[in-house]
Amino acid sequence: KLTSREFHPQDTVVDVDGVKIGDGSFVTMAGPCSIEGLDQIRETARMAKAGGAQILRGGAYKPRTSPYAFQGLEEEGLKYIRQAADEYDMKVITEVMDEAHIDVVAEYSDIIQIGARNMQNFKLLSAVGQTGKPIGLKRGISGTIDEWLNAAEYIAISEKSPVIFIERGIRTYETATRNTFDLSAVPIMKKLSHFPIIVDPSHGTGVWDLVPPMARAGVAAGADGMIVEIHPDPANAWSDGPQSLNEKNYLKMMNEVDVIFNAM
Ligand code: PEP
Ligand code: MN
Repeated sequence: KLTSREFHPQDTVVDVDGVKIGDGSFVTMAGPCSIEGLDQIRETARMAKAGGAQILRGGAYKPRTSPYAFQGLEEEGLKYIRQAADEYDMKVITEVMDEAHIDVVAEYSDIIQIGARNMQNFKLLSAVGQTGKPIGLKRGISGTIDEWLNAAEYIAISEKSPVIFIERGIRTYETATRNTFDLSAVPIMKKLSHFPIIVDPSHGTGVWDLVPPMARAGVAAGADGMIVEIHPDPANAWSDGPQSLNEKNYLKMMNEVDVIFNAM
């Protein structure tokens, strides 16, 4: 298989317009769950950059459990995140949910995110694989490692877009956390695939004070980076506030992650 290490023994380094993922460095993608407006995404970009993140995250098309919840600013949001990222010399990762929006998302984003709920949306996977952009592939809510690898194969089969695996927790019987963060996925994916893997301790736990310890654990486990939700005012975030870090806690976490990375 194209994603397997047997097929391609050396690590694939994904070059996101100059930011390399999988080259032995630790890359951080930080930003709000949802883009809420230009001022909010600019302020979050400033915070993200101050902590050392190189890639700005933020959703413009949001896969919300309830159809009555905020669904995202769509193209307007894409314009805002691009403007904020350019201002702080950052790259952009944002989610696409629908084949019809691939072109517009590809126009504004450097990495295209496939959300957990779409890990097995095979038509969407094949279609994003045609863009040539790196694809951040979240693990499905109930996705096994084998299903995740097969999902990546749908992208890689085009031989155009590289994949970045994102471990974001899986559904188990446990309710103390939003999802059960499967840290073992990091060394397992390293063994089975040549593509980079990063961790998402925000969706992985759902609770902001559990995010720094799991981020530290992610570095120690050998992840190539992380994607983390931060917000200037988590209590008033339009989505995922409870798992979002404020500036102070984000900066503290980034220092800790650095210490662990340098000790390895
Ligand atoms: C997100 O990144 O905000 C998101 C919706 O993530 P997931 O698809 O992992 O739930
Ligand atoms: Mn979120």
